[in-house]
Amino acid sequence: MSRSGEFCPRCGDEIPEGTDERPELAGAGGQRNSEHVLCDACYFEEFDLVDAPDTIQVRVCSRCGAVHKGNRWVDIGAEDYTDIAVEQVSEALGIHVDAQSVAWQVAPEQLDKNNIRMHAEFSGVIRGTPVTEEVTVPVRISRQTCKRCGKIAGGSFASIVQVRADGRDPTDDERERAEEIAEEYIAAREETGDRNAFITETKSVDDGLDMKISTNQMGLGIAKRITAQLGGSYSDSRRLISEDEDGQELYRMTYAVRLPRYRQGEVIDPEDGDGPVLVRSVQGNLKGVRLATGEDYEASFEDGETPDARRLGFREDAQTTTLVAVEDANAVQVLDPETFESKTVPRPDYLDTDTDEVPVLKSHAGLHVLPAEGDDTETDE
Ligand SMILES: [Zn+2]
Ligand SMILES: [Zn+2]
Repeated sequence: MSRSGEFCPRCGDEIPEGTDERPELAGAGGQRNSEHVLCDACYFEEFDLVDAPDTIQVRVCSRCGAVHKGNRWVDIGAEDYTDIAVEQVSEALGIHVDAQSVAWQVAPEQLDKNNIRMHAEFSGVIRGTPVTEEVTVPVRISRQTCKRCGKIAGGSFASIVQVRADGRDPTDDERERAEEIAEEYIAAREETGDRNAFITETKSVDDGLDMKISTNQMGLGIAKRITAQLGGSYSDSRRLISEDEDGQELYRMTYAVRLPRYRQGEVIDPEDGDGPVLVRSVQGNLKGVRLATGEDYEASFEDGETPDARRLGFREDAQTTTLVAVEDANAVQVLDPETFESKTVPRPDYLDTDTDEVPVLKSHAGLHVLPAEGDDTETDE
């Protein structure tokens, strides 16, 4: 029996010796795929270099721009989906396993906002023969609503962060900062690919701000960050909202942030005989500076950030007035900004006697020279 006697099962031609370089046939007991024993003519007749899908659908979220990949939504931060279309078409194209030296390129042709025609060109070498193939895959950008945007639109949330202040309303600045802190926190979570991070609603109310947050854990994280940056404290409470079919109780958490009673830049009188204090910090114990002397003030440990004190005003209420004369080590004369009379007032040590004008605050406690603007937070050692 001669070894040259192999015949193509399709056309019956004898397969010439030497053309068979198919390693798959070498193994003992290997199954013979009919394709492997076809003659070249029959092989190429049914050969497809590229296996391409009829069409590709790229699902994008019309609200947030996320793209559906595999079985989940991914934030890609793209405005233009052509790159995504190229990527998804490339992933969907199959190249014949026998092909060698494969080269290919994909060129998108934008038809309209939602339709791209993808032209793919392939070349490779099969059985020593160079082959090329072109395929065109229509891509449709399908605009949908991702799971997260669906939840936000549906008003879904797990916790509420309430921002209030002790004995006063939060200032516009504090409301803005609290909102920013929440947004920064959520953005940082999104950055890590967490699609469960979102703020469903931010609502300004008379006495503060209410924010609906996607999870309890993130509500807590936001409450912690707001108090770390703006001072004050928070408490939590939970309310049963439902039971699922297994009797599992579902709670909604409320994190109530209470900003400090006094704020930086406020002038208060602790009524301890040493006169008013400009508040410099409400992180931990309230700290400030005495307006009569320039000495440091710090509330006792028990009083923390809320010592008993009368509110006198705010740094932003200060007026600039003329420094008339330096009387002695403890007193200066300034013009009363309302009556323009010369008044003798205490001389704090932060007062620069070389200047002509000084900021003063007039309250029912009298006229006080404030530290120069920008000198609110640092304490002179
Ligand atoms: Zn044949
Ligand atoms: Zn979305």
